[in-house]
Amino acid sequence: MSDLTFTLDEVHALATSVLSHNGCNAANAAAVADVITAAERDGCHSHGLMRLAGYVASLKSGKVNGHAEPTVDKIAGAVVRVDGDSGFAPLALACGREPLIDAAKTSGIAALALTDIHHFAALWTEIEPIAEAGLCALACVSYKPAVIPAGGSKPLYGTNPLAFGWPREDNPPVIFDQASSVMARGEVMLAAREGKALPAGVGVDKDGRETTDPNEVLDGALLAFGGHKGSSIAMMIELFAGALIGECFSFEAAERDNNDGGPPSGGELIIAMDPQLFGDSEGWAAHAEKLFAQIEAQPGSRLPSARRYSNRRETASAGVKLSAKVHDSILALCEPSGSA
Ligand code: NDP
Repeated sequence: MSDLTFTLDEVHALATSVLSHNGCNAANAAAVADVITAAERDGCHSHGLMRLAGYVASLKSGKVNGHAEPTVDKIAGAVVRVDGDSGFAPLALACGREPLIDAAKTSGIAALALTDIHHFAALWTEIEPIAEAGLCALACVSYKPAVIPAGGSKPLYGTNPLAFGWPREDNPPVIFDQASSVMARGEVMLAAREGKALPAGVGVDKDGRETTDPNEVLDGALLAFGGHKGSSIAMMIELFAGALIGECFSFEAAERDNNDGGPPSGGELIIAMDPQLFGDSEGWAAHAEKLFAQIEAQPGSRLPSARRYSNRRETASAGVKLSAKVHDSILALCEPSGSA
């Protein structure tokens, strides 16, 4: 079937309408539609419209509160806590972002702890506005067990992404955002949907045998990137997004999840730092540019996020392409029998 082309406004309207139709109020629908639209804009299709089926499933099952009213419920020094009221993460984050930025600009460093949220998105959408406000930022979130700890045999860690952002004066921020598995589960789902084999070394089947079949990996487990090194980062994220902020680990999220195909309940930690208050308040930005220039000077080397920004420029003129089949499946989510 041929591709259809949509403007970003049309993508946003489509996502909003599907979410509203399935139980989100205007504020929650708009916040989720914002991150879906940003993902499509930057060519990150694994976290774009494809996720609507999961969002809808978790609204229909009653796991997620589509009318969530997040509250900034405790500010202790430079720690901002937002209780997400069992809604999707984007609205909780929207409530906590400005208090986080204000606290970091006052104290030099601040943290945002989001609790009782359901996270299904790419983290760079969350880091970018904080970096655009002039701050360095780190974000991490856990999920459900999908990754085997190094040397072990059973999934324990989520795919646990870690994102980092660095503000720039004359360019958009430098951001990396990476799962602690060799490949994000969303990418494996995309490969399964497109009938493509995975590269070797991404994951194992349910019996622990290496496989390149994405469906077998979805039934089995992913491997951590870089062996024990990625495994330790996944563990750190479990602790930051779990024990540190009074939220659950991935394995605990799985125990209370209803497996409706949507995001489990859990927490997220975001840390923001103001480079103006750390050291060289006059020269930090120019100093960082020297490093970026050295990276870009090497043939074949590029800054993380350069691909996304290039996609963003391309989408501005070419629009978002969607197959008619996928578009139909999204519209079906608004039918009485529509489901994930
Ligand atoms: P990738 O491996 O595709 O990319 C990871 C990072 O590396 C990106 O910032 C990317 O920048 C950068 N990068 C890639 N290639 C290069 C290169 N050659 N030189 C320099 N930088 C490079 O991402 P993942 O598959 O690990 O993760 C995909 C997404 O999945 C993330 O957005 C993550 O947040 C999300 N995710 C969400 C989860 C959740 O529970 N909510 C769970 C797990 C993952 P660029 O984009 O410019 O290519």
